[in-house]
Amino acid sequence: MPIEEVDLIVIGSGQGGVPLAAEYGKAGKRVVLFERDRLGGSCVNYGCTPSKAFLASAHAAGRARLATGLGVHCEVHVDQRAVLERVRSVRAEWNAGIAPRLEGSGVEIVHASASFTGERTVRGSEREVRAPIVVIDSGTSPAVPPIRGLAGLPYLTNLTFFDQVTLPERLLVVGGGYVGLELGQGAQRLGSAVTIVHSADRLLEREEPDASATLRTSLERDGVALRLSARASAVEYDGHAFRLTLAAGETLEAEGLLIATGRVPNTPDLDLARTGVTTRTGGFVVVDDFLETTCPGVYAIGDVAGQPAFTHVSWEDYRRMSSTLAGKPRRRDDRVLSYSTFTEPQVGRTGLTLAQAQASGIDAKAVTLPLERVARATEWDLELGFFRLVVDNGTGKILGATFVGYEAGELVQIVGFGMELGATWRQLDDFVAIHPTFAEGLPSLARLLETA
Ligand SMILES: Cc1cc2nc3c(=O)[nH]c(=O)nc-3n(C[C@H](O)[C@H](O)[C@H](O)COP(=O)(O)OP(=O)(O)OC[C@H]3O[C@@H](n4cnc5c(N)ncnc54)[C@H](O)[C@@H]3O)c2cc1C
Repeated sequence: MPIEEVDLIVIGSGQGGVPLAAEYGKAGKRVVLFERDRLGGSCVNYGCTPSKAFLASAHAAGRARLATGLGVHCEVHVDQRAVLERVRSVRAEWNAGIAPRLEGSGVEIVHASASFTGERTVRGSEREVRAPIVVIDSGTSPAVPPIRGLAGLPYLTNLTFFDQVTLPERLLVVGGGYVGLELGQGAQRLGSAVTIVHSADRLLEREEPDASATLRTSLERDGVALRLSARASAVEYDGHAFRLTLAAGETLEAEGLLIATGRVPNTPDLDLARTGVTTRTGGFVVVDDFLETTCPGVYAIGDVAGQPAFTHVSWEDYRRMSSTLAGKPRRRDDRVLSYSTFTEPQVGRTGLTLAQAQASGIDAKAVTLPLERVARATEWDLELGFFRLVVDNGTGKILGATFVGYEAGELVQIVGFGMELGATWRQLDDFVAIHPTFAEGLPSLARLLETA
């Protein structure tokens, strides 16, 4: 099999790989993209798209039940089959656009698992190709914890969750990170009786403690049962129900078991040693400030490079890489990272927490506005949550924010945008927001610094 010479090789059709391949293809370059599973990667097929379509139904049901406080009493009937069929149809719609986009740009798609055979040389199926630039965008897979008896059982992960026809009557979720919380709360709101088992003493332990506490209140209000500081040690399945034993001795039983305990990088199959690409603990690819690996010409983007695992990170990596390859180098850290957990209430984050700022030696302070002090929150009976702003004491520059509340992920980005522009809290204070919106809380929040 002769080695074919091409201009660009992309391994994985993730969030950064697809636009990069399409851009190069459109520019008349010869591009080969290897994909071993569905086109579009985790986000479109197993992550953001199906989970947010699922949550659209779940939160509609949850809000209808909570409308009692507004004097509206609803009897909620959930058609789980219709919910899950819709999820799959939204996923199919997004997935269907990818092949035409790539092929329309002249990209050759090879549906095969790719591995390196030498420096910048990759083989997949019957094809072996070499290029001056190779981009690894191979993403991650669900981590499976060492629970005795788990191997071989029909447990769910995010790869299979959305293929269910209906939801289990009872669902055990192992993992209280954002995937476990979103799918756990979603399933509860759609009719399962959910128990979330989490090893840390609070949910979303990387976020502010009061964000975790607020979320806990909301989940418990929905009826979700929580087991914190709990470790699953063994599991059995009798063909109908799982029996999960916790290290402390308790046994939980449910028809469904979802494992959501983190992600592992898709690097073992790549044969990286053949191309001189180094990995670090856990198998993530080591990259420099410009996303280049330890092998010149080989780049890694998105989750596999051990960065915050978000679609917008992978997509922004594409923009940085595209610029760097065009001769205008752009560092990978020239961005303000924002993200959200799409539970209700949402937990939206941008930049640093106070503890993170102080740990990095910055003289920082924070102010917090409870949502009861935002008119819209009171009017709409959505007072559960708060806005917190972290600023540099000396310069007044905004360093970060945590917002917990209705559509907090949308709102916190206003602060993120301000940070991109180098804004100070006084500029946020000067911002004239529409009354009565949640965003009206932003200048009110900043104003707290006048007396803090
Ligand atoms: C349930 C869930 C919900 C999520 N929700 C959100 C959200 O709301 N917002 C958000 O920003 N992020 C979310 N994420 C995270 C987001 O999905 C990922 O961060 C994003 O998909 C990462 O993109 P990527 O480009 O790194 O790779 P991926 O999208 O993971 O794509 C990698 C691709 O590479 C392929 N591949 C791997 N190895 C090989 C090989 N050897 N040969 C050929 N192909 C290979 C894989 O099959 C895959 O298609 C969610 C994740 C999960 C699991």
